[in-house]
Amino acid sequence: MKISILGCGYVGAVTGACFAELGNAVVFVDIDPAKVATIADGRSPIYEPGLDELLSKSLSRISATTNTKQAVDGTEITFIAVGTPSRPDGSIDLAYIESACRDIGAVLKEKDAYHIVVVKSTVLSGTTEGIARRILEEASGKTAHLDFGLASNPEFLKEGSALPDFFEPDRIVIGVADDASREALERLYAAIDCPKLVTTIPVAEMIKYVSNAFLATKISFANEIGNLCKTLGIDTAEVFAGVGMDGRINPAFFRSGIGFGGSCFPKDVRALIAQAKAAGVPPKILSSVVAVNEEQPLRLVGLLKKHIPDLKGRTIGVLGLAFKPDTDDIRESRAIPIIEELLKEGAAVMAYDPLAMDSFGTLFPDISYASSAEDLIQTADAVLLTTEWKEFEALDYTGKLVIDGRRVPKAAVGSIYEGVCW
Ligand code: NAD
Repeated sequence: MKISILGCGYVGAVTGACFAELGNAVVFVDIDPAKVATIADGRSPIYEPGLDELLSKSLSRISATTNTKQAVDGTEITFIAVGTPSRPDGSIDLAYIESACRDIGAVLKEKDAYHIVVVKSTVLSGTTEGIARRILEEASGKTAHLDFGLASNPEFLKEGSALPDFFEPDRIVIGVADDASREALERLYAAIDCPKLVTTIPVAEMIKYVSNAFLATKISFANEIGNLCKTLGIDTAEVFAGVGMDGRINPAFFRSGIGFGGSCFPKDVRALIAQAKAAGVPPKILSSVVAVNEEQPLRLVGLLKKHIPDLKGRTIGVLGLAFKPDTDDIRESRAIPIIEELLKEGAAVMAYDPLAMDSFGTLFPDISYASSAEDLIQTADAVLLTTEWKEFEALDYTGKLVIDGRRVPKAAVGSIYEGVCW
């Protein structure tokens, strides 16, 4: 099929590259000319293992442009994969979705051939059939499900394993209200062998939020229990290994640490809370999930102060800035509140990350950045472990004060060691 993808971030770049690998012709669109130029060159605009190779391999089937008209005109189906960030009050900011729909609608107005629009961005239940449909219809003068197709296909990829997540997903969720969209999406995903749930558009949208909210709940629950286990002197990792063996529970996302960050869980849980409040059913569990997640990283600094009560002028190393290993994404990284707290305490912060130092430098231009993890360990008075990069497993922490937020076993060897929940 001929596919256009609006938004060349983590989701758009991965989805487009994988559809091209399946033999489709893909036109990438972004408002950022730098991202467009990178993709046109067969390279990925974001770090994701294997993505550069996949894009360069499919170069004959991909193109990239900033011109939405050209992309939508020349394709049969458009996926919207633009960002849906939080507003300051936690509610969802749909500005990028709205402008993408306006751009697509304007093209549909002049386009005779039937076109299908698929919302892949994470949007609250009711958005596709509500604001997205209204803008598309107003801008095109046409009717959804009659003159053009409209569907929801939420994305469940995990940064760092996005390619295997695309080709071997747990499930694909397809939310539809017209046959043409259902047939097109079923055809597009025919080569992927996994359960496919075809449902209504509002249910598809809700499945995405409930999945993220439940995983976030597992993490905050593991952290609350982890804090108790540490106080009682019980090994929290062993506890959760045992609990996760229960087939009804599952061990994934069931580890204590300094909480969840990233571009999805924090904003999606906040957006669901805002939607629930607006609907008159304020959620108690989800509000606690957020409260636990906000306190958890600060516990690392609290533990550090047990060993160094006055941090003023002391050099504290922060090892790991990406929100998780194998990505350069720093959105809502737990290192951010930790560094803010250290700076409040008057510490001199030295940071290191294998991939995320450039983007972190724009957020914290005034802290120092080590040339290597070894350099950081040698220079700092104490080391806080904030991301479990594999390479941190191979370092020598002998003689150092290490406060571990992610359970890196090697960091306990020969060091003065304390874990956040162990
Ligand atoms: P991102 O910020 O990395 O990328 C979004 C891109 O859209 C940017 O490059 C931006 O320039 C571009 N854009 C904005 N308006 C545009 C327009 N009108 N036309 C063309 N391009 C435009 O975002 P992301 O992480 O890829 O997330 C995209 C969506 O997918 C969000 O709703 C997110 O919640 C969801 N999601 C993300 C992940 C993830 O792991 N990152 C996983 C599942 C779902």
